[in-house]
Amino acid sequence: MPHHVNWTERAQALKADGRAVIDGQRVAAVDGQTFAKHSPVDGRFLTDVVRGQRADIDAAVRSARAAFEDRRWAGQAPAARKKVLQRFAEKILAAKEELALLETLDMGKPIQYSMGVDVTATARCIAWYGEAVDKIYDEIAPTGDHALAMITREPMGVIGAIVPWNYPMIMAAWKLGPALAAGNSVVLKPSEKSPLTACRLAELAVEAGLPPGVFNVVPGYGHEAGEALALHMDVDAIGFTGSTRVGRRMLDYAGQSNLKRVYNELGGKSAFLVFEDYGDIARAAQTLAGSMFFNQGESCNAPSRVLVQDSIADEFVKLLAAEAPKYAPADPLHPDTVLGALVDETQLKTVLGYIDAGHSEGAQCVAGGRRARADSGGYYVEPTVFAGVSNEMKIAREEIFGPVTSVIRFKTEEEAIAIANASSYGLQASVWSLNVNRAHRVARALRAGTVHVNQYDEDDMTVPFGGYKQSGNGRDKSLHAFDKYTELKTTWLRLD
Ligand code: NAD
Repeated sequence: MPHHVNWTERAQALKADGRAVIDGQRVAAVDGQTFAKHSPVDGRFLTDVVRGQRADIDAAVRSARAAFEDRRWAGQAPAARKKVLQRFAEKILAAKEELALLETLDMGKPIQYSMGVDVTATARCIAWYGEAVDKIYDEIAPTGDHALAMITREPMGVIGAIVPWNYPMIMAAWKLGPALAAGNSVVLKPSEKSPLTACRLAELAVEAGLPPGVFNVVPGYGHEAGEALALHMDVDAIGFTGSTRVGRRMLDYAGQSNLKRVYNELGGKSAFLVFEDYGDIARAAQTLAGSMFFNQGESCNAPSRVLVQDSIADEFVKLLAAEAPKYAPADPLHPDTVLGALVDETQLKTVLGYIDAGHSEGAQCVAGGRRARADSGGYYVEPTVFAGVSNEMKIAREEIFGPVTSVIRFKTEEEAIAIANASSYGLQASVWSLNVNRAHRVARALRAGTVHVNQYDEDDMTVPFGGYKQSGNGRDKSLHAFDKYTELKTTWLRLD
C-alpha cells in the first residue's frame, strides 16, 4: 500500500458526481430530485445523488432495449467484445486511486482494501469474463443421422442489476462481467448508501468503447428505483445481491410483472467448525478474526458462528479475544487501518442492538462490544466476540452484518454438523480438522454453497459463489454465471 499518497488531502479535493448515466450520458433525474450523500467516515457531505424514480428507470430500460435490439453490442464478435471489456478493465485500474477513494468515502472501508482488493477485483472480474467469452463453444446434440440439433446460447436482452453497499464495485462487476460479455444490456441500480463508484464505472465503460446504452446506471432508493426496475415489463432478468428480506420481494415483483428470471445472492450466517484434532488452534483463531473483521464484518460470508469442540473451547476463546483488538477501528483514510466505519447510523444502531441482545440473552462478551471513535462524526464499532452462545440465541440466528461473532460449543461431530446446518442460511462454511476422513465427511454434510477446509479465504474468479437455502439461488463468478444471463436455444434441421 503506497504511503506517499495523502488520502485525507485527496478526499478534500475529490469531486464526486452523483448523476445517473443513461445512454452514455451523465443525466439528472427526470423530476430533478436528489438525495444528500454523507460519508460514514466522518459524516462529511459528499454530493447530491440522483433519486431515480420510475421515469428514470423507464428511460434507462428504453436505452438498454434499443441498444440490444440494434445489436450494436450483441452483434459484435465475441473477440471484439473481449477487447472492449479488457479496455474497460484497464480504465478501471488506471482510475484506481479515484475509485478507491470514492468507495472508502462512500461506505467506510479502509483505503488499503479499496485499493488492494475492491478496485483490483473489479477490474479482474471484467477482464476475466472478457477473456472467457471467445473461448466458449456451443453444442450439437447427439440425435442421429436424420437431423441436426444445435444448442446455442443467446444473450437474454435487458438485465437489471440491483446491488448492496458492502462491496459496491465488486458486486456490480459480478453481474456486469458475465451479462455484458454475453452481449446483454444492463441497467444497474446501486445501493443508495454507496452509489458513487457505479456511476463512475459506467463512464469508464463508455470511454473504453462500450456502446452507449449498453450499460446504464440509475441511483436511487430500493422502494423507488429498485422496485421500478424489478417490476419493469421490459427487463428480462434481475441479478440481485442483498438481504433475504428484499430477495423475497424480487420473486414477488417477477410474479407481479413479466415472470422475469430472478437470481438472488442473499445473506448468510456462516459456520466455522473447529475440531480438537486440528493442531494449530492459534492459526484457526487468527484466520477467523481476519475473515470476520474484514470489511467491518459487513460480508455476506463472514464466519459469524464459530463452533468449537468442548475440549479446546476455553483456549480458543482466549486466543480469539486476544486477536480481536488487533482490528481496532481507525480512520479509513489512513493507509494502515484494517477496520473502518460501518456504512451509516442505521447500521451502527442495528449492530449495537444485536450486541445488547447478546448481553440480555446471557452470552458473555469477551472482546469489544462498544461504539468507537464517536467524536470522529462517523460510525465505528469495536471488533466483538461473544462466548457461551447457544444456536437459539438471536445473535446466532440472525445476520448481524457488523464486526460481531459468536462462539458456540459442541461435543461430537454429529452435533457440530447439526448445529451448523440449523440455520435458514447456507452461504459458506469451514471445517478445521487434520483427520482427512472427518474433513471430507463434514465438508460433504455441510449445507452451504462454499466449504473451506483448514482455511477460510481462498477465492478466485474460476469458482462459483452463492448459497443454499435462503442464502439465494444464483451463482456469481466462474463460467457458470453465464447460465444466468443467456438463453439456451435449440435449432433443429432436417437432414433427409
Ligand atoms: P438490501 O437488501 O437492503 O439492499 C440491496 C439492494 O436492494 C439495494 O440496492 C437496495 O436499494 C435495493 N432494495 C431495497 N429494497 C428494495 C425494494 N423493495 N425493491 C427493489 N430494490 C430494493 O441489502 P443491503 O443492506 O444493501 O446489503 C446487505 C445484504 O446483502 C446482506 O444481507 C448480505 O448478506 C447481502 N450480500 C450477499 C452477498 C452474496 O453474494 N450472497 C454479497 C454481498 C452482500
